[in-house]
Amino acid sequence: MKKAIYPGSFDPITFGHIDIIKRSLKLVDELIIAVGNNSNKSYMFSIEDRMVMIKESLKEIDLNVNPKIKVELFDGLLVDYAQSNDTNIIIRGLRAMSDFDYEFQMGLLNRKFNSDIETIFLITDQKYLYYNSSLVKEVAKNKGPLSCIVPEAVIKYLSRIKNHKSHRSA
Ligand code: ADP
Repeated sequence: MKKAIYPGSFDPITFGHIDIIKRSLKLVDELIIAVGNNSNKSYMFSIEDRMVMIKESLKEIDLNVNPKIKVELFDGLLVDYAQSNDTNIIIRGLRAMSDFDYEFQMGLLNRKFNSDIETIFLITDQKYLYYNSSLVKEVAKNKGPLSCIVPEAVIKYLSRIKNHKSHRSA
């Protein structure tokens, strides 16, 4: 049984994240989507909303019937979280060179903390290359079309946020 963790902010989940989830499932038997709750970060959505949006989005694309995916809250050190979940595999997505520097640093740091940890970088589909949470916020703010960027479940949440203010998570 191969298990991996896909950590991230998912603020909110986009089709880019979903692409990485689908690719991961070709490699592992179980995937934990670990939703970060870092008190130093400013999120658009609360941790609860981000987790519900992921679960609803997975249902929408028929992935929730798949018992291989878990959605969990995560804070603290990723290496500790991985160890407590009996895995040494971390999945991250790569879009462009702009991701590389940060991901490389984090990958090396995690390996320094725990030499057993392996980070697997999956390359996104070209059509999701420029999708990120800031883009979602910008398009939502300007009332642009969101349906090619995020699942319907996320659009529902975005329309509930009237003034699209960022807020710190609890
Ligand atoms: P973080 O704050 O940890 O970077 P994100 O939710 O922004 O959290 O991203 C989580 C992971 O998903 C990162 O590895 C990021 O590179 C990847 N990711 C985000 N958007 C995309 C996308 N459009 N295509 C592929 N990977 C993506």
